[in-house]
Amino acid sequence: MTAPITQDVLTIPRKLPETGRLNLVGLTRDQLREALIAAGTPEPQARMRVGQVWQWIYHWGVRDFAAMTNLAKDYRALLADSFQISLPEMVTRQVSADGTRKYLLRIAGGHEVEAVYIPEEGRGTLCVSSQVGCTLTCSFCHTGTQKLVRNLSPAEIVGQLMVARDDLGEWPTRGAPRDETRLISNMVLMGMGEPLYNFESVRDAMKVVMDGEGLSLSRRRITLSTSGVVPEIARTAEEIGCLLAVSFHATTDEVRDKLVPINRRWNIATLLDALRDYPRLSNSERITFEYVMLDGVNDSDEDARRLVRLIRGIPAKINLIPFNEWPGAPYRRSGQDRIRAFADIVHKAGYASPIRTPRGEDIMAACGQLKSATERGRRSKAQIAAEAGV
Ligand code: SAH
Ligand code: SF4
Repeated sequence: MTAPITQDVLTIPRKLPETGRLNLVGLTRDQLREALIAAGTPEPQARMRVGQVWQWIYHWGVRDFAAMTNLAKDYRALLADSFQISLPEMVTRQVSADGTRKYLLRIAGGHEVEAVYIPEEGRGTLCVSSQVGCTLTCSFCHTGTQKLVRNLSPAEIVGQLMVARDDLGEWPTRGAPRDETRLISNMVLMGMGEPLYNFESVRDAMKVVMDGEGLSLSRRRITLSTSGVVPEIARTAEEIGCLLAVSFHATTDEVRDKLVPINRRWNIATLLDALRDYPRLSNSERITFEYVMLDGVNDSDEDARRLVRLIRGIPAKINLIPFNEWPGAPYRRSGQDRIRAFADIVHKAGYASPIRTPRGEDIMAACGQLKSATERGRRSKAQIAAEAGV
């Protein structure tokens, strides 16, 4: 692994001291309306005020009530007395040789989370976190070695996108395009944490992100990745409606129990039943099956054939992820030839089977490598290996 190309420590004096003023970021339109009325906005005006404030915050990226020039001065002062517009604070930004940017963000309580921006040909994806750490302990995942500190609030989830937009200079005031040629055109909930164990906050955050008058990412450009929290899958379709990715990773319960321990609660058959209903519920596109390639563990031809048998009837794409190493990891990445042979079998069965190119590996920004410095109770190498059964 090579050293990071740049690592600037930024000190952006953005976070206001604890003022007791309500943060407007991350409130849904209904919540914003209630807040404005509680602060003294006359009810008949509330709808219009919500629209104006919303547009300033999410379309123009304004942080200062004084700059909301279509509001009367008195009203701006009233807003400033009651509210704040506050984002996570950027602690460090690392830029990889391939252009990937990893942001370490500090949130209330001094906790830290990571978000990763991945520029691609004709599009750009922001990978956001939903929790500090993760309660699940997938044996190949670095985040899984960090105990959960807490769930993120909607403000902290939406805030990751806004901080990245700041960093990339992508607000319309700075001449950025409004269409899908934007630098951040897509979002994936694939950072730290299990999004479906923080359902309400993720849902409310996505409502804000998907709102057409503001950040304006369409539901088809948002992909939520779950390890398989079966009871929340139908709700994801109904209440969020974004695309779904599932961390599948194994074709027998025996192996999946070890790799993705939530399988002991909801096994492969139960998970697949929930997935069969998903596209119908949300009218969405294919489900992405994520499959990490671990040398000698889940990467045989037999696995590939079993995989296509299992998912028969589900509109699906199989995303093969070469294992990204991290210090103390108990696995090795499958060889290129093995990955290609696996992909070939899946492809011949009629499924798209792209092999994900690891991005930002030099700055530990690739899938499963995220883990902020605020780790608590780290498991030992021996413990990780024992749980993985290797
Ligand atoms: N908790 C959610 C989302 C975050 S993980 C989930 O598990 O789906 C995002 C993806 O990266 C998941 O598919 C996860 O299994 C995968 N991943 C985790 N660690 C990895 C590693 N070391 N190498 C490659 N992929 C990994
Ligand atoms: Fe948590 Fe996902 Fe990592 Fe599993 S793969 S430990 S669910 S973040």
